Amino acid sequence: LFVAFEGGEGAGKSTQAVKLAAWMRMAGQQCVVTREPGATPAGARMRGILLDPRGDKLSSRAEALLYAADRAEHVSTVIRPALKEGAVVVTDRYVDSSLAYQGAGRELPVEEIRWLSGWATGELRPDLTVLLDIDPQVGLARVRQRGATDRLEDEEVTFHERVRDGFRTLADADPDRYLVIDANSGEEDIATQVRMRIARIMPG
Ligand code: C5P
Repeated sequence: LFVAFEGGEGAGKSTQAVKLAAWMRMAGQQCVVTREPGATPAGARMRGILLDPRGDKLSSRAEALLYAADRAEHVSTVIRPALKEGAVVVTDRYVDSSLAYQGAGRELPVEEIRWLSGWATGELRPDLTVLLDIDPQVGLARVRQRGATDRLEDEEVTFHERVRDGFRTLADADPDRYLVIDANSGEEDIATQVRMRIARIMPG
């Protein structure tokens, strides 16, 4: 079973990924929690380039390729081996982040990003994608509270609005594979919604 958490900044993906894994382990299920970008040694270096706060912003296509390279390494050295061993894999971000950020956000053609992602992953798709939907103003405020003190630029808000719409469009197009949750709900409430859906698709 392969589960992805997706959503904008400050949506609480990492918290929910860890909670889901803890619940599965309690039930005796082996579970691997991972994330993008940066889950592998090479990926950590790519994350350094992608998210370097002092670096120049990468051009859109270079950025898209680097996320794809990070993901290719992630799939072949972490996700596929874990699935083969029978573990449940829970990832904090996956292909949909590229469709939303590099596609909708940076306005590269979404179908091209989809093709690139399919090539990078060998078409490995999650059984379920949980979208934690959040208003960017709220999510970014949460992130700033965690430490970053940057003022929110208007341009940044419109970027993140496009990303949010990108995620929602993906979810709307495929309700069987998505669970959309309002990220303003309480942590426990969200965890319960996720568990109820997972229980329906858990093997065994
Ligand atoms: O989820 P996390 O906060 O670690 O993501 C790091 C950053 O990478 C996010 O701020 C997000 O904007 C960016 N990102 C991106 N495109 C992706 C994945 C992440 O721009 N495909």
